[in-house]
Amino acid sequence: MPTHDAPSHAPADAASPARFLALLDYDGTMTTHECNEIALQRFAGDAWKPLEAESKADRMSHAECFDRQVRLIPASRTQFVGALVEAAEPSPGLAEFFAELARRAGRAVVVSAGIREAIAAFWGREGLPPIEIYASELIGEGPDAGPPYHLEFSPALGDCPRCGPKSCKAAVLRALRRPGDVVLVFGDGASDLCPAREADLTFARGHLAERCAAEGLEWRPLPDFTHVWADVDEWMARRSAPAG
Ligand SMILES: [Mg+2]
Ligand SMILES: [Zn+2]
Repeated sequence: MPTHDAPSHAPADAASPARFLALLDYDGTMTTHECNEIALQRFAGDAWKPLEAESKADRMSHAECFDRQVRLIPASRTQFVGALVEAAEPSPGLAEFFAELARRAGRAVVVSAGIREAIAAFWGREGLPPIEIYASELIGEGPDAGPPYHLEFSPALGDCPRCGPKSCKAAVLRALRRPGDVVLVFGDGASDLCPAREADLTFARGHLAERCAAEGLEWRPLPDFTHVWADVDEWMARRSAPAG
């Protein structure tokens, strides 16, 4: 097993500095709003909502849900992707979170069912540090790669009875996790539950927060990213404290 020397500026109080692996959902997790929902509402009205309700009730996989939702969009590719990027406001503290993760020699990946083109445009616009993005390709079957649309999910996603074939984010976690890693998962939706179940610590908003609470997972609320490292350090200190 390869080992990496800890950076000299790693926290001196830890016996062996933690090696962090952060898996982050994009939409509604790193952004203050649900950009997909905003764009769907704008171009397709309320038609996306019954599909979302089916997904949240575990009656439809999140993958099938989002694929069927993008099929509702009649707008051109430029309009649709433009609306997604326009709606994307970064969560407070996001850039600082990545800076601190880099300082701790951690690794971060984006794992999203969302549209890679929109995520990459957001990333460039916000000047965030380079990151691996596992996300979906928006395939336009019409003229100029326009509507009707469907999605091709990242091939890094895996099979899962809950998420469906080739749609489970936990496969990325299993592929990237090295022995000894402290795995942090950040999410807000039904598709983030499988990786959250395998994380050491999850930061959750919205529906995922409800699911984490219901399942008794180790999780913290994620109002934004300003308090994440304080929460991680507090959790690490408690975890390494002698029992009793
Ligand atoms: Mg999300
Ligand atoms: Zn799954």
